[in-house]
Amino acid sequence: MRLLITRPMTTAVEERARAEFDVVIRPETSVLSHEEMICALREYDLVMPTLGDGFDAGVFSEVAEPRCKLLANFGVGINHIDVGAAKAAGVVVSNTPGAVTDATADIALTLILMSARRAGEGERLVRSGDWPGWHPTQMLGQHVTGKKLGVIGMGRIGTAIARRCHFGFGMQVFYNARSEKSPGFDATRLLDLQQLAAEVDFLVVAVPGGAETRHLVNADVLAAMQPHAHLINIARGEVVQQEALIAALQGQRIAGAGLDVYEFEPEVPQDLRELSNVTLLPHLGTATQEVRSAMGHMALDNIAAFVAGQPLPNQV
Ligand code: NAP
Repeated sequence: MRLLITRPMTTAVEERARAEFDVVIRPETSVLSHEEMICALREYDLVMPTLGDGFDAGVFSEVAEPRCKLLANFGVGINHIDVGAAKAAGVVVSNTPGAVTDATADIALTLILMSARRAGEGERLVRSGDWPGWHPTQMLGQHVTGKKLGVIGMGRIGTAIARRCHFGFGMQVFYNARSEKSPGFDATRLLDLQQLAAEVDFLVVAVPGGAETRHLVNADVLAAMQPHAHLINIARGEVVQQEALIAALQGQRIAGAGLDVYEFEPEVPQDLRELSNVTLLPHLGTATQEVRSAMGHMALDNIAAFVAGQPLPNQV
C-alpha cells in the first residue's frame, strides 16, 4: 500500500514511516492544493493529512472511486475534513486525540498569563530600547491567582486547562459543554454562553471547529464579558467572530485577548496586529518535539492497524 504524508515530520516519525511503509513524504510545509488533494485520493492507498488540507465535499465529488481508503489525520482537530463526504466515498478518517492535550493546555496558560500580565507588550518595550526602568505604577496588569475561569468546551483540553487553573492558580472554574462533566474538582456548568462570559475573568475557547461552533463567540458573547476580562482562544479561529473581537479590543470593552488561532489563518489582519492589548501566537498549541513525535506515531499506529485489517485505535 502506498502512503502519502503531506508534510515533513520529526526525524523519529519519518524514520518509522520509511521503515514500515512504502511512503512518499511531501517536502513542502504548505497546505495541499486542490490538485494535490485530488492526486492524493487517486494515487495513494493511505494519506496522512494535517491542518489546512481541506478535504471537503467538493474534493471527494471529483474523485469517483478513490484509491485512498484512509485519511489518518495528524492532529485532533478534523474541521478541515468533511467526514460525512469521506465516509460516503468509502474513506475512513482517524485523528490523534490525547497526544495533544497537555501541550495545548500549556499554551492556553501561557496566553492567560501573557495577556493578564501584558507580557507581549512588556517584551516589545524592552526590545525597543525605550524602557525607562521600574516604577510602582508601570504596566499594571491583572492578577491571575484566585480569579474566575470560564471554559467553552470542557473536553480533554478544556479540562486540562481547568485543572491547571484550579490546582495551580486557585481559580474558580465555570464551563459550557454539551454534557455535564465530573472533572474531579469543583466546576460549575453554565448553559448560557452570555451568562458564562459575564461571570468570569478569563474566558477560554476549547471547542472543536466546524459548522456547529462557527462564531459561537460572537458580538453578543463578547459584549457580555466584563471590561477587565480576557478572551483566550486555543481552539480554532472560526469559533470566534474575529471582526467582533477586533471591535471589542479597539473599544477597550474587554481588557485583552490571547490568540493561538485565527479565523482566516495564516492571515492575521493588520487591525489585530496593531493592537497592543492582544497576544498573538502562530498556532503553537502542540509545537514541541515530543508532542509532534507522539502525534506522528499515533497517526502511524492508525495506519498500521488499517493495513493489518484491525480496528483503528482512533477512528473518528
Ligand atoms: P474534545 O475532547 O472532543 O472536547 C471538545 C469539547 O467541546 C467537549 O467537551 C464537547 O462537549 C465540547 N463541545 C463540542 N461542541 C460544542 C458546542 N457546540 N457547544 C459547547 N461545547 C461543545 O476535544 P479536545 O481534544 O479537547 O480538542 C478540542 C479542540 O482543540 C480540537 O478540536 C482542536 O480544534 C483544538 N486544538 C487546537 C490546538 C492548537 O494547536 N491550538 C491543538 C489541539 C487541539 P461534550 O463533551 O459535552 O460533547
